[in-house]
Amino acid sequence: LSTWSAVPAGPPDPILGVTEAFKADTSSQKINLGVGAYRDGNGKPYVLSSVKKAEELLSASNPDKEYLPISGLPEFTKAAAKLAYGDAAPLKKNAVAVVQSISGTGALRIGGAFLGRFFPHAKAIYIPNPSWGNHTAVFRDSGLEVKQYRYFDKKTVGLDFAGMKEDIKTMPANSIVLLHACAHNPTGVDPTPEQWIELSNLIAEKQLFPFFDMAYQGFASGDTVRDAFALRHFVSAGHQVALAQSFAKNMGLYGERVGAFSLVAADAEEKARLESQLKIVIRPMYSNPPLHGARIASTILNNEKLYADWLSEVKGMAERIISMRERLYDNLVGLNTPGGWGHIKSQIGMFSFTGLTTPQTQKLAEKAHIYMTADGRISMAGLNAHNIDYFSESVSKAVK
Ligand code: PLP
Repeated sequence: LSTWSAVPAGPPDPILGVTEAFKADTSSQKINLGVGAYRDGNGKPYVLSSVKKAEELLSASNPDKEYLPISGLPEFTKAAAKLAYGDAAPLKKNAVAVVQSISGTGALRIGGAFLGRFFPHAKAIYIPNPSWGNHTAVFRDSGLEVKQYRYFDKKTVGLDFAGMKEDIKTMPANSIVLLHACAHNPTGVDPTPEQWIELSNLIAEKQLFPFFDMAYQGFASGDTVRDAFALRHFVSAGHQVALAQSFAKNMGLYGERVGAFSLVAADAEEKARLESQLKIVIRPMYSNPPLHGARIASTILNNEKLYADWLSEVKGMAERIISMRERLYDNLVGLNTPGGWGHIKSQIGMFSFTGLTTPQTQKLAEKAHIYMTADGRISMAGLNAHNIDYFSESVSKAVK
């Protein structure tokens, strides 16, 4: 008998399943809107030219392959914190503890493990319903109790702001609340700046602890400062936040796994204590983080010319996505597609909750070779000038 004979097969990953079905389809018209990775105007993966230039500079400097410190590449973590927090007071007084992470997922996991060990109250984290599919598993495996708050209103295909506030009001004081800093995944629905200000006040009143997941800074609006509004507002309002950052989308460094986790401390002395414990969390997990991607990101963030190039490339990616939103909206309305489609334009970031039902998504796969997750979420990045008219017509037919 095998040692593993009692291990049951796990369910397949719902998003990878979409890719499998897409691969198996032999139609030349097929479109994959499942994956959360940027595609250029020809549907191809895109390596940023600022990234290529950074790699050339790096290669010319002939760097070694020694281990990084447990907390990562110092020039990178410093620049990553600056990108997120800007001129926030805690950063200026050296009161932000920051460590490099294995992209955004690793940052969430370090944060989950740290909170599991040191958060001085009940270890419950509230995440939006719906949320990025991995949040529940990451926090549950970190030892936190995962609960949900209302976020999305199916009727308006928009934010259920009243429901969200009601749920926040009924959370036990000193709970942890996870917030998507911008470009909420999977809905594409974000609070407005005014709503963020209200949320910040409410979260302060209830003495909740905000944990920001910022996987799309710059990628949402095209502007890294605008996308950091919620985080920076909370910090300026005095919240001690936790932050997970990813450079997967905004630098296109997906497989390089570049990210950072940070905590706002009271002062420099507390920051040093937090960093010492973050290292103790990291050391037995993977010892120290990978080198190459952090060097790329650090080269870009610390070189004035490359930084400017990168900002315009992020803007370019965001703008291409925004233009696809406009064109999809115009097409659907032009085709007299039943229903309101304004949400396609008001949503932000890589994803859009179209409002398509599961049977409609199945019909699109079977009849039109168009693949998306069963909840009707599409990756806007998968649309381009070559396929958007076909996609719009197919959606219009599926809804009629
Ligand atoms: N958080 C959110 C909301 C995401 O959408 C993603 C990626 O899709 C991540 C975190 C983590 O991504 P990565 O680990 O590739 O940085």
